[in-house]
Amino acid sequence: MTVTSRNPADPADLVISVPAAGAPGVAAAAARARETQPGWAAAGAAARSAALTRAADAVEAHADELTALIVREVGKPAAEARGEVARTAAIWRYYAQTPYAPTGAVHEPAAGRGLLLTRRRPYGVAGLITPWNFPLAIPVWKAAPALAAGNTVLLKPAPEATACALRLAELAGLPVGVLTVVPGGAEEGEALVRAADVVSFTGSTAVGRAVVHAATERGVPVQAELGGLNSALVLPDADIEQAAAHLAAAIAGYAGQKCTATSRVIAVGAAYGPLREALTKALTALAGPAGLESVCGPLISAAARERLTGAIASARAQGATVLAGADVPERDGWYLEPALLADVPAGHPLRTEEFFGPVAVLLPAADLDEALALANDTRHSLATSVHTRDLDTALAAADRLEAGMIRINAPSSGVDFHLPFGGTGAAIHGDREQGQAALDFYTAGRTVTLLPAEAS
Ligand code: NAD
Repeated sequence: MTVTSRNPADPADLVISVPAAGAPGVAAAAARARETQPGWAAAGAAARSAALTRAADAVEAHADELTALIVREVGKPAAEARGEVARTAAIWRYYAQTPYAPTGAVHEPAAGRGLLLTRRRPYGVAGLITPWNFPLAIPVWKAAPALAAGNTVLLKPAPEATACALRLAELAGLPVGVLTVVPGGAEEGEALVRAADVVSFTGSTAVGRAVVHAATERGVPVQAELGGLNSALVLPDADIEQAAAHLAAAIAGYAGQKCTATSRVIAVGAAYGPLREALTKALTALAGPAGLESVCGPLISAAARERLTGAIASARAQGATVLAGADVPERDGWYLEPALLADVPAGHPLRTEEFFGPVAVLLPAADLDEALALANDTRHSLATSVHTRDLDTALAAADRLEAGMIRINAPSSGVDFHLPFGGTGAAIHGDREQGQAALDFYTAGRTVTLLPAEAS
């Protein structure tokens, strides 16, 4: 089997074609990673810190090349691609400090002399399965904490992002067997889950559930970050122009292909009319060639675009109004004009499912209570934004929203890598990612009792 990826802005451009690892290839890579792991852990904090720092330096030194590769392989607009490269280096650097951090605590024995210790230890081989939409940042926000804690890593990237993953690992320059990319698809992903000592998955809900099931059967720790259905709440006291600009970015930025993109805009009371006008204008402005090029970019595949155009057509047939965009522009590549729809009936898939594209529905709510109920009416909420100048409203929303990430006066999209990240309900399984949460996930706790010989 061969893994290929194509440029979504120019599908005739074949970015890479490499042999898939196959299940036996994954098993062999896992065996190598397992042999390498004790030495990597025993090399010590200074060695691991220096190695991760070198990986950060290499990303920075090749920022232009990596930016161009992200643009070409997954169709991310250049400014966002550059931001992702900078963030990737920052993540390596952040976790490069963590081998020096405490890995446990000292306690007094209940009786007599001695020490009680807690200590966190690496599991062994971390198996990472990643999507294509953040082809450098997601692999690194999993690999860096896993490696910093003393695990070795096997990374199974999405086929659509194979070239990015291979170059990332090459630039990291870690010793053989410490960070290994296994190109492939479902077969390789399944083989990875069979071989790893700890599993971290990011991707769609259906695949994630299967991964969680398989890892749990084997009794290995697993976390899964899955699809989300994200809302934005706009209150009448909000700065409507600023809210519209934030929402346009969260709907259209990278064609809505972010797990934190906004797909349901809930306008409270008198906010509805002005927001409808301002957001329609902001999205329409992005539907031209400049907006499509610099903000939106293409969808990842023809199939992804067809799923969206099909859903828009069915909503229209059921009485929805298209306020902005939704046309397929006449140009190469899998582009779709960013779209805003009103009057989409309750129960329509555009209101209940993740589409992973530049499309949002506009919904009215009589008051904050109704807006919160609408936002919470989903099983997989990841990020919700709230736009208001009123502190009480912001605090009430932060308290009552069932979302993993709550962003006041900011787009729903946007992640700070040093804080825990993840959704609620069906958008997540297991522990959250990033920050200290990631270091905890990739290590197992030990409790050590240490007594003087004569006392035992
Ligand atoms: P996907 O589920 O199709 O693929 C994700 C990964 O799983 C890929 O590497 C794929 O090859 C692999 N895979 C496929 N079948 C497998 C199997 N049977 N066993 C093991 N691995 C298998 O997702 P995608 O299209 O690459 O990414 C888009 C999805 O990712 C969206 O649903 C999006 O919301 C989600 N996502 C979530 C987050 C988050 O943090 N919650 C972040 C980014 C993307």
